[in-house]
Amino acid sequence: MTPAARFYNRAVCARVGEERKIYTCMRCGKTFSKPEMEILPGIRCPYCNFKIIMKVRSPAVKRVQAI
Ligand SMILES: [Zn+2]
Repeated sequence: MTPAARFYNRAVCARVGEERKIYTCMRCGKTFSKPEMEILPGIRCPYCNFKIIMKVRSPAVKRVQAI
């Protein structure tokens, strides 16, 4: 593996790790990822618009069950 490829790999890993963070809405209980949340300005639930959301670090449980 070339140094460039290694660097690229690491960058991709970091990016995936960031996007894997899951958030939970404290009102409707739905979970969503950062890109979904950024559909709307500010930090709020993309489903019900509630402002209090909780960050859930490890989605180690289910590997995607929707979409
Ligand atoms: Zn919500």
